[in-house]
Amino acid sequence: MKKILSLVICLILMCSVVITASAANATATLSGVPSEIKKDATATVTVNLSGTPTISSALVQIELGSGLTLVSGEWKKDGIMKDFNATTGYGVLALNSAGTFDGTVFSFVIKGKTVSATAQNVKVIVTFKNGSAEVGTATATKTVKVVCASHSFGAWAKVDNSNHARTCSACGYKETKAHTWNGGTQTKAPNCKDYGTKTFTCTTCNATKIENIAKTNTHTYGSWTQTKAPTCTAKGTETRTCSVCSKTETRDVKATGHTLGDWKTTKEATCTAKGTQTRACSKCSYKETKDIKALGHKFSNPTVTKEPTCTEKGEEKGVCTRCDKETTNAIPAKGHKVENYTVTTAPTCTQKGEEEGTCKTCNEKVKREVAMVDHTYGEAVVTKEATETESGISTKTCTACGDKVEEEIPALGTTNDNDNTDTNTDNGDKNNQGNDIMIWVVAGVLVASIIAVVVILIIKKKNS
Ligand SMILES: [Zn+2]
Ligand SMILES: [Zn+2]
Ligand SMILES: [Zn+2]
Ligand SMILES: [Zn+2]
Ligand SMILES: [Zn+2]
Ligand SMILES: [Zn+2]
Ligand SMILES: [Zn+2]
Repeated sequence: MKKILSLVICLILMCSVVITASAANATATLSGVPSEIKKDATATVTVNLSGTPTISSALVQIELGSGLTLVSGEWKKDGIMKDFNATTGYGVLALNSAGTFDGTVFSFVIKGKTVSATAQNVKVIVTFKNGSAEVGTATATKTVKVVCASHSFGAWAKVDNSNHARTCSACGYKETKAHTWNGGTQTKAPNCKDYGTKTFTCTTCNATKIENIAKTNTHTYGSWTQTKAPTCTAKGTETRTCSVCSKTETRDVKATGHTLGDWKTTKEATCTAKGTQTRACSKCSYKETKDIKALGHKFSNPTVTKEPTCTEKGEEKGVCTRCDKETTNAIPAKGHKVENYTVTTAPTCTQKGEEEGTCKTCNEKVKREVAMVDHTYGEAVVTKEATETESGISTKTCTACGDKVEEEIPALGTTNDNDNTDTNTDNGDKNNQGNDIMIWVVAGVLVASIIAVVVILIIKKKNS
């Protein structure tokens, strides 16, 4: 019996160890605690437990920072006895029967009381009891800031190049926003050597920032100075320098070209040999030369050794007054001199004529051609009537030789280009036909002439 009793005591002790161990695992969490709460606003917080030991009663203790007020609290589990005192923050719950205590067990309402820059604690301690023995606790803490219902901001101040900020003097709340830069003002003009600057001012906090303005490409050049003189034939160089950045620019100077003097005869021409003229550049050794034509002999009192005729050159001899050389000169033929020509063959519109006269000088008969005369065309005759779409033809005929000239009569009412082309092609054919007729006429005349000559020859033979 004693053995059984000690065994039971042992079991009870082991059980209590197990209960204590599991009590150490009990955790409490708070939900509904905001990060900020405005002064005079309220928030409802719930307490959740897990891993609780077997208990018969629980105690709750709420501890708030001085900036907060506890408004009310209530147990969320059933029990034979529940109470809570909002003034002390202390409450008790006695369960109907012993058991675990997990889940939402308590809720309470907090209120912002005093605005403060520091966060305020919201702390809950739950103590577990089984009978009169304490079997564990669970604690949870969160913080909340009590902020102004309406902030009392100071002036905006620069934070960095991007932002400015203002702070509430009551709660320390800091509001940060981007600068509101104005259009900027040029505070230093750029030139070809240095960047300029432009200063921007924030219209909210008066902060400034400076941005560079790119260098210009406008230089302040002095006048051109010759750095290499040009010659008659070679280019020179000139340079100018920017007085601000010392950049130099170089350009070519054109060659001057020669300055040539007057031509001077350096070798006189003779009757038979060329002479030379020279002119020289006054600036360099350049020289130019050109020939003077040979003068040719100069006759004085030449003697005619052979008189020229109408058709043959003559000759004269003489001594040159410059070089004393005896030379011979040709005298041009005089040409026939005919006063009156008589037409021996009259020209027609198809053949040249001929005329003849006697030279006054040598009495020789001289013949020369007489130019063809113009055709004598009759009235134009319509040889093909024009239609609305096709052009017609009018023809003129030479009364002497039968030569025909065709002229186009425009179609009466054509508007189509293709039709015109066709008409033109037709005309071309007609002209070709005209040429064919001419060839036949000429051939006919030729054959007739040959027959006539043959007949004359036969008659002559019979007579002799
Ligand atoms: Zn504030
Ligand atoms: Zn600003
Ligand atoms: Zn410059
Ligand atoms: Zn020269
Ligand atoms: Zn001579
Ligand atoms: Zn003659
Ligand atoms: Zn004719």
